[in-house]
Amino acid sequence: MILVSLWLIMDRKGATSMNPTREEYWQFSLPEKLLFYACALASVGYMGWQIWARVQLWLQGRPTGEVRQGRQYWMPTRAGVERWAKKVWTYILLQKKVRSSRPKTGAPMHLMMFYGFFALFIATTLLGINTYSPIKFHQGAYYLAYEVIFDTLGLLLLFGLVWAVARRGTTKEPISKDNVDMLVLWLLLLITVNGYLLEAARIAINPQSQKGWDSVSWVGFALAKPLSGLAGNVIAYKAFWWFHAVCVFAFFILIPRLRLRHIVLAIFSAAGSPDTPMGKLRTIPMEEVEQTEQIGVKLAKDYSRWHLMSLDACMECGRCTEVCPANAVGKILNPKKIVQDLRGAMATGAEVVPSLDPEALWQCTTCNACVEACPVLIRHVDIIVDARRNIVSEGGLSGSGALVLRQTASTGNAWGTSGNREDWMQGLDIPLARTTSEFEYLFWVGCAGATDPGAIKTTKAVADLLKTAGVSFACLGNEEACTGDPARRLGEEFLFQEKAMENVSAFERYGVKKIVTACPHCFNSLKNEYGDFDAKIEVFHHTQLLQSLVSKGKLLAAKPERGSVVMHDPCYLGRVNEESEAPRALVEGMVNPEFHSQKTRCCGAGGGRMWMEEPLTERPSNARVEQLLATGAKTVALGCPFCKIMLDASVKQVTDEEINLVDLAEMLQAANSKSPVS
Ligand code: SF4
Ligand code: SF4
Repeated sequence: MILVSLWLIMDRKGATSMNPTREEYWQFSLPEKLLFYACALASVGYMGWQIWARVQLWLQGRPTGEVRQGRQYWMPTRAGVERWAKKVWTYILLQKKVRSSRPKTGAPMHLMMFYGFFALFIATTLLGINTYSPIKFHQGAYYLAYEVIFDTLGLLLLFGLVWAVARRGTTKEPISKDNVDMLVLWLLLLITVNGYLLEAARIAINPQSQKGWDSVSWVGFALAKPLSGLAGNVIAYKAFWWFHAVCVFAFFILIPRLRLRHIVLAIFSAAGSPDTPMGKLRTIPMEEVEQTEQIGVKLAKDYSRWHLMSLDACMECGRCTEVCPANAVGKILNPKKIVQDLRGAMATGAEVVPSLDPEALWQCTTCNACVEACPVLIRHVDIIVDARRNIVSEGGLSGSGALVLRQTASTGNAWGTSGNREDWMQGLDIPLARTTSEFEYLFWVGCAGATDPGAIKTTKAVADLLKTAGVSFACLGNEEACTGDPARRLGEEFLFQEKAMENVSAFERYGVKKIVTACPHCFNSLKNEYGDFDAKIEVFHHTQLLQSLVSKGKLLAAKPERGSVVMHDPCYLGRVNEESEAPRALVEGMVNPEFHSQKTRCCGAGGGRMWMEEPLTERPSNARVEQLLATGAKTVALGCPFCKIMLDASVKQVTDEEINLVDLAEMLQAANSKSPVS
């Protein structure tokens, strides 16, 4: 209706009664057209050839996906296509990751460029269908709507590009600012501006142009006025036309060579990204080790095909580096550089570990902030841990990192103490699985919860709350072993597998169906990784179970003075397992620091880093404490024993003020009992 009305209005104004449309290839002879087709074919062909060369590199990687009966792993199923479509919709068309960071700079700028570019892509495709197929629809009301809509949307690209060029000179964000990068932006800007100038030239120069409805191409129409002196000058029109075509050919040729390639590859990276949870690392089958005679990756081809392809999709935006806690405190770890260096190793066949710098690899806390931020869904943590696995398998880990592996192997406790997992229970009448006939929840205490004095307070608080709320539970006590999380993230895969199998057999022994734990690292491993070892369990972080007890009225929420408590989301709860509501349901009126929930910042303990030496000035926890205290709160609410240990050490570095670091369970315990278990 709107389109028809538009047509009628144009007509009533006396524009013309002719059918609105425009002529393609105006004044072009057959040889000129053939020259254009030949150049277009050559540039697109060259682009395809370059992409094919990269595809050959990706295909060297480990195949991903299952091999199904009578069907190759890459042949799509209906469910697979639905998954791909959903991811492309979410991450490409809706730009979910781009929108979630740099809200005042990179996000609006990229959104303008993306939607402007996408609109012009659709416009060109429609025009191509009309020109080269028997279906002719580029006329009438459709034509008028086409012109006004795409003339307007093209401005998004134009403004986005101008913003991008201007931003490169001023921003402190770790984006690429080299000359090639600027050249690409200028080329795109040139194509966009010239597109409008070409439209203006058509309107100004073509004497048959239908001036009445040309005004709907309002940008080109406005630009046509200064060009009116060129009326009838066909050579000038062709100069605009060919200049535009040559710029577009250059664009095609450059796409695979520069980070422009993300325009295409981001779609494949998003569509094919693993469905596994962010917190799950790949389980290496023993048969694979026997076959390849190595653990982890030595060469880039040892990564999966998707991982290799995703490296090429990197848009070099630096979002990963911007959020990296190690990089923020001046360490050499730079996740963007890891991706670029690995991309280089993929092309040259160089060994991965020397290419990525082992020192940087050991600085990673596996916090997944980079993974969460990456618009093309690159999994930096998979890359880093697979490289660590190879270092460890070749005996390349020494010092405190190696010590924690030895301790876990010999005592089943990352702290190296054995037989002490029941010490905290003394005088508390804590039920043990071996002496309790039936229980609903296994309370998984964890190494820290049974060993570290600060974490033991939390353990006791959880036990007290479960009793207060009448929850049926039991602990494994000395039958519990480390989940193996630190070992796995330090690269000792088979120590992790050994611990996982040991613990799963304990679950089977006592018919465990539900587990609650106060450690987000244990929570993540049990929930996301133990399934590979046939564990059939439902796993809850203690804040989740406590939230349900509060909502059922079995426990009271804590009500401190509004604004006096700030929430620090643990990485493996808030980001990796996307749980940030449950902690906030336990304590009313908490404030959030600048970075919270999925965007929380790391305390520096993950990935085995808690046991590794660190100069005082290079502690991610110092930076985190500053962010938390910037809210003005004097109490920090926690949900992780590792965070408690790390932040406690940093509070003393950062401030002389009295700051309370308290687990949410302890706050809830205080709210529910006049005499909490001590
Ligand atoms: S890895 Fe992802 S976040 Fe990092 S620079 Fe590349 S695209 Fe950006
Ligand atoms: S996981 Fe965390 S520490 Fe490791 S590279 Fe990514 S952001 Fe940096």
